[in-house]
Amino acid sequence: MTNPAVGLPVMDVPARAERLRASAEAAGCDALLVTHLTNIRYLTGFTGSAALLVVKPSSLTFVTDGRYEEQAAGQLGAAGVDAEIVIGRSAALQQAVVTERIADIGRVGLEAEHVTWADQHRYATEWFPEAELVATSGIVEQLRIVKDDGEVARIEAACGIADAALAAIAPLLEKRPTEAAFALALDTEMRRHGADDISFETIVAAGPNGSRPHHAPSQRAIERGDLVVVDFGALVDGYHSDMTRTIAVGGPGALDATQARMVSVVREAQAAGVAAVRAGANTRDVDAACRDVIAAAGWADAFVHGTGHGVGLDVHEEPRVSWAADATLAPGHVVTVEPGVYLPGHGGVRIEDTVVVTESGCRPLTRAPKS
Ligand code: ZN
Ligand code: ZN
Repeated sequence: MTNPAVGLPVMDVPARAERLRASAEAAGCDALLVTHLTNIRYLTGFTGSAALLVVKPSSLTFVTDGRYEEQAAGQLGAAGVDAEIVIGRSAALQQAVVTERIADIGRVGLEAEHVTWADQHRYATEWFPEAELVATSGIVEQLRIVKDDGEVARIEAACGIADAALAAIAPLLEKRPTEAAFALALDTEMRRHGADDISFETIVAAGPNGSRPHHAPSQRAIERGDLVVVDFGALVDGYHSDMTRTIAVGGPGALDATQARMVSVVREAQAAGVAAVRAGANTRDVDAACRDVIAAAGWADAFVHGTGHGVGLDVHEEPRVSWAADATLAPGHVVTVEPGVYLPGHGGVRIEDTVVVTESGCRPLTRAPKS
C-alpha cells in the first residue's frame, strides 16, 4: 500500500495565518483564540486531538498536551509554521499560558460556531476577565473555501481512489450481496487503494430503500432490477472526496419505465448543474439549473435536498449549493453537484460529482462512469 499523499504538492500553510490576521483585524479583533481542531489543522498542519492556537498580529502560540509534544514539533515544522509551541501538561497550565499570552489584548475573537455556552462563560470569567470577547463567525472557514493547488491535489487523489475502488468492486453486484456487504467491500477497497480512511459512512441504498436519501446499508440482498444508490468518499491527508453513482443491477434493460426515466432525468439535471458551475456564478443558479430539469419532468417534490456543498477538510463545508444559499463561486472552490429523485416504491436516483471551479467552468475530480 502506498501513501497517496507522498508526492503531492506542498501546501503553503504559513500563509494561512497571515490571511487570518487580516480577517481578524477586519472583524475588530486584536487576537484570536482558535479552538476548532479542523481549523487548527488548516492553520498549522497539526492532526492531533487536543490543541489551542493563539493568533496575534505578530506571533502564533500553539498549545497542546504531553501526548503531542513530538508530533506537534514535527508537523508544525514540516508545514513551515513558525509558532511558539507550548506543552501544557494539565488544562490549568494550558489556560495559564493562553491567559498570559492574551494579557495585553483588548478584543479577543472566539469562533462562535465552535464555542459552547459553558466555554464562553469560562473564557469570559476565568480565562480573559479583562478582555472584550468578540464572537466571530466562520472566520477560518471563509479562508478554507478557496483551495490552493496542494489542497485540490489531495481532494483529487481522494476522488481518484473512490473512482478506482468502485471500478474494482462494481462486478460484485452480480453476486447479489447485501447492501451492508457491498458497502464494506467498497470501504475496504478504498483503504486498499491508499485511502487514510473512508470520508463518511458509505450509503448503499438498493431498490425500495433508495427513496431514502441517507439510508444506512441494511441486510437486504441487492436484486436484479434494483437501482442502487452508492454515495461514498475517501480521505487523503485530511481531505475528503464525495461521489454518488446509481447503478442499475442487470443493466438498463432490467429497469421499469419509471426507473429508466428517473435515471435519464437525473443525469440530465446533473449535467445541467455541472454546466452551470463557473467562477462568478451564484450557487442558487447552479441549484436552479438542476431543479428546473427535474421540475420539468414533474418531480419537483421528489428532489428533497439541496444541490451540493463545498468539500475540503470537512466533507460538508461552505459554500452550500442550494436555493437557500447565496454564494458566488470563485476559482479554487470545490463543490459537489448531486441532484436526486426519490420516489417511494420505485427507489431513488442520485448522481454526484465533486468539481473544482475554474475561471471558465469547472473540472470534475470524480470521474467514474455514470452509466
Ligand atoms: Zn455524497
Ligand atoms: Zn455530497
